[in-house]
Amino acid sequence: VWNFSAGPSALPINVLKKAQEQMVEYPGAGMSVMEMSHRSKSFTEIITTAEANLRSLMNIPDSYKVLFLQGGASSQFAMVPLNLLAEGETADYINTGRWSTMAIKEGQKLRYAQVIASSEDENFSYIPKITKSDCTPGAKYLHFTENNTIYGTTFYSVPETDARIVTDMSSSILSREVDVNQYDLIYAGAQKNMGPAGVTVVIVREELLGMADSSVPTMFNYQTHAEKDSLFNTPPTFGIYMLGLVCEELMNMGGLAEVERINRAKAELLYNTIDESDLFSGTVRVEDRSITNIPFVLPTDELNAAFIAEATDRGIANIKGHRSVGGMRASIYNGVPMEGVAFLVDFMKEFEKKNK
Ligand code: PLP
Repeated sequence: VWNFSAGPSALPINVLKKAQEQMVEYPGAGMSVMEMSHRSKSFTEIITTAEANLRSLMNIPDSYKVLFLQGGASSQFAMVPLNLLAEGETADYINTGRWSTMAIKEGQKLRYAQVIASSEDENFSYIPKITKSDCTPGAKYLHFTENNTIYGTTFYSVPETDARIVTDMSSSILSREVDVNQYDLIYAGAQKNMGPAGVTVVIVREELLGMADSSVPTMFNYQTHAEKDSLFNTPPTFGIYMLGLVCEELMNMGGLAEVERINRAKAELLYNTIDESDLFSGTVRVEDRSITNIPFVLPTDELNAAFIAEATDRGIANIKGHRSVGGMRASIYNGVPMEGVAFLVDFMKEFEKKNK
């Protein structure tokens, strides 16, 4: 089966095989990673290596802390305002779809979040372009969702603002090279490109730590986790181990430059097929198209349903689009190789011939 799920998603096959080999007995430990104390020598090595691998892959400067947390990206919707905003302070948000909307709701519930731009007017099919004059003077940070998993849009450059930059990279992290220096805080759930669900990565400029109000619960304060190198309480140990293996695999592939080259080639093959087709169409403004989540539609609901059913029979799994866009969505994260995209494209061409 080729798995086009938006998340949890396909993982590189080599990673699954290595995890299988080490599942029952992690080398030198005599037990499974799942059974180890998070304070043990073996797990210390695992978490240290996972962090070092992620730092090396993304070229994360020493002035940033890397935190391995739980609670998903959704918890970050609350942790970010709780840690970066004091009572009475403002943050700017750009609304590009469901996940940004959720982040905005939490920001507004807990502090003061201002929506300065939105693409809701066209069902989130594009990225609103902003300039500094759109930003609120004195805003502490600007939040945006770098890649919109449901709508298939991506910010390819960081918006202009004098505020700190906070971004949700859940569905684009490790898919391409980024300059971490351009951001002040990056967060991402692991379950798309980094490993199994359960770990949430936060990459935060150290100078932003320790700003949370004393009323912020201990577990929701970044400082708590930063001081203890993500070992304040029991971390998601198996997920951290898998994240380390995923990073190792991407390093062996040649790092993010090579990963990006492959991902761009995969996306180009699929977008070209959509653009050259008389039957399929894309739903996103061309310059804002995501290379990881690619929605496309057929002219009728009946054809969409037939495509999904036939594709599923062929071993093309999880191709149904999100209900707010309809049609299909191919999520082609790092775990889906070119071969999988080629298989999908061949099926699309065959389907078009039959349904002309
Ligand atoms: N942000 C983005 C961009 C997502 O795609 C998702 C989930 O798909 C989330 C946040 C929510 O993540 P979680 O389920 O880890 O809370």
